[in-house]
Amino acid sequence: MLYGVWTPFASKKPKNSAAAVCSRMRRNLNEPLPFSTMVWLDNIIGEIKERFQKEIQAGIPLTIRDEKTLSGRVHVGSLRGIVIHGLIAQGLQEQGIPHRFLFELNDFDPCDELPPFLDRNTFGKYMGQPLFTVPTHEQGAENLPMVFGEELKKVVSNLGLPIEYYTLKPLYEAGKFNDVIRRALDHAKDIRVIYKDVSGSNKPDDWYPLQVICERCGKVGTTQVTGWDGTLVQYTCKENLVTWAKGCGYLGTISPFDGRAKLPWKVEWPAKWNVMGVHIEGAGKDHSAAGGSRDIGKRIAEEIFQYPNPFDIPYEFLNVGGKKMSASKGIGATAKGIADLMPPYLLKLLMIRKQPNQPFDFDPEGTTLPLLFDEYDRLSEYVAHPKEGQEDFVRIFHLAQIGFPEKGNPLWQMRFTILSFVVQMPHLKLEEEAEKLKGAPLTEEELYALNERAAYVRKWLSEHAPEQYHYRILEILPVLELSTEQSAALVLLRERLEKLPSWKGEDIHATIHAVKAELGIEPKALFAPLYQLFIGRDNGPQMGWFVSTFERAEVLKRIDSATIPS
Ligand SMILES: [Zn+2]
Repeated sequence: MLYGVWTPFASKKPKNSAAAVCSRMRRNLNEPLPFSTMVWLDNIIGEIKERFQKEIQAGIPLTIRDEKTLSGRVHVGSLRGIVIHGLIAQGLQEQGIPHRFLFELNDFDPCDELPPFLDRNTFGKYMGQPLFTVPTHEQGAENLPMVFGEELKKVVSNLGLPIEYYTLKPLYEAGKFNDVIRRALDHAKDIRVIYKDVSGSNKPDDWYPLQVICERCGKVGTTQVTGWDGTLVQYTCKENLVTWAKGCGYLGTISPFDGRAKLPWKVEWPAKWNVMGVHIEGAGKDHSAAGGSRDIGKRIAEEIFQYPNPFDIPYEFLNVGGKKMSASKGIGATAKGIADLMPPYLLKLLMIRKQPNQPFDFDPEGTTLPLLFDEYDRLSEYVAHPKEGQEDFVRIFHLAQIGFPEKGNPLWQMRFTILSFVVQMPHLKLEEEAEKLKGAPLTEEELYALNERAAYVRKWLSEHAPEQYHYRILEILPVLELSTEQSAALVLLRERLEKLPSWKGEDIHATIHAVKAELGIEPKALFAPLYQLFIGRDNGPQMGWFVSTFERAEVLKRIDSATIPS
């Protein structure tokens, strides 16, 4: 046997709780991967090739773009967009289609919220200012947004996706947005009509789609442009334009170019497509709803900037199970918090296994993580023993790998459940148990992977794991109430185990199954008391191997305690 066998836990799950959420997730993860899950990337690549046939033939690199406003620590949900776009880049690269994946670290939006860990008294005054003006609370970073930007870059770099980062402010300052600003101002009336048509929002006649950085107070979130003469704009810094910042009341006239002003999001987004020459850009559900910013952006792009709506991939949310629970644990739902829980290939798999338009939930306190490891191992088996009709499983496995590795055989890995048991047993040595299970010495790579996985398991056990993953060997032997059938089976098993020439997991496994078959006893009726004798519960890791991790004398002693009346 190459891989350990997953012994499902017969856990009782309360309804309407985080555990119920886990049980839903668990079902999802246990289901075989639906066919369409696997080909979504390849389908998208096919559609992209069709739409951009001319550009590809002309050798024009396709530009993929995504962005994140750096107003706080980056939520794990943003990783979904990054990985989807990154996978598209990977898919194009595989086919030798020239492309770039530009990721914007948006440092120019107004600061409209403060991360909870920042002191209100010190940082409150920056509310409404462009993010790049907010100083950092950490040494070494350029400013507050780049603290979050650097954290995101670190998380993403482990995924090995081909990404080029850029920040927004320098582009405005270099005049790259001057032309789109001019066109937006010239067509302010048309933009007001588009807003009204698409989202029903009414803008007054003196509303212009631009926000100037106030020359007096430095805020950008509080200003409104009210006039444009082709060279200069008039603007007001309004006291109550937004609830999160107060304007200073200044009335000014200024050139709107070269970084003095910025476009509001719904106009800026299509402007960026134009400025950056974007071909492909998906967006999360929040932007993709009917009448939302994508619909407005599409109209503005086509009618004001004469630029086609980029190839779209609307994607669903990635939720982190039970917000309250996560917040109380302090992990939050940050990209880093979740990425730290698993090796990068697993994070990639997490994003690949669902189609972009399907929401999914990640629950660090539930069984999501063990089941994800199991799924990865199942995919490894498809790769190790390929069969017809399972090519997509193999494809998914390879897509999850970091970089573009040789498509060789997967490494032998210890199953998560077994590993979680071994690391909690002071009497067991990890490498020894791994070699017993594999039936051969580990290669250097396998040993590395084992220790890496063990580190993730230990972290998860100490910070998040539900009770069912915590094991303790009973020091006081329990009193079991056995049926006559169970007693007889245990007595026979004891006899056979005592005579067993070797003390190997597979031999013990065979012995237990032989006894079970001989006496016609249900597996659970025999397994439950065996687990009970050691760990005080009805289930546990794979039985034969589990018993083999104890000294034979200890096993016989425990069985005696249950079958010999005291
Ligand atoms: Zn002001």
